[in-house]
Amino acid sequence: MSRSYTGIKLKKNRVYSGADLQRIFDVSANTISNWVKAGLKDSDGKRPYLFRGGRVMEFLKARRDRTKTKLLFGEFKCGVCKSAVFPEVESLEVRPAKNGAPMGMGVCSECSGHIRKFVSEADLEVFALLADPNTTVDSLREGMRVDRGGICSSEEKLARPWYGINDRLLWTCRGLMPLL
Ligand SMILES: [Zn+2]
Repeated sequence: MSRSYTGIKLKKNRVYSGADLQRIFDVSANTISNWVKAGLKDSDGKRPYLFRGGRVMEFLKARRDRTKTKLLFGEFKCGVCKSAVFPEVESLEVRPAKNGAPMGMGVCSECSGHIRKFVSEADLEVFALLADPNTTVDSLREGMRVDRGGICSSEEKLARPWYGINDRLLWTCRGLMPLL
């Protein structure tokens, strides 16, 4: 199963709901909420959540690119869906490898591929945040951002304030425009 989404192109200025994204990418609501936790910004924080197509494409591209440069803390490189992903929290196990260093193993939250990497204290902190039902999306992102050295321009773009005031208006006209 490939979940790299490379063949799917959303319209940059089209507004999509979470349900639209689920249908288009063939993923669960859980996956969309994982994207939000991992930094995908919605338009205005209101429900139903709305997303600009350009933002979604930027987010997915940044995640693919991170696997070639440097992962954020808490992220694994999944060899199956070729993205930087969170583990399914229930699947996560940390055990000492042969050399004694802690090895994290689990299942990709996107495609159920097996993922593993040597983990640091900072990774463990993010795992704890992921496992805690009281963790807010913002505090999780704070934890993920503590990335020494890895400069990622796409990620910086994502961190900029995002004004989506018109998106809800555009959303009301959704029936008039093609989804892709
Ligand atoms: Zn995967």
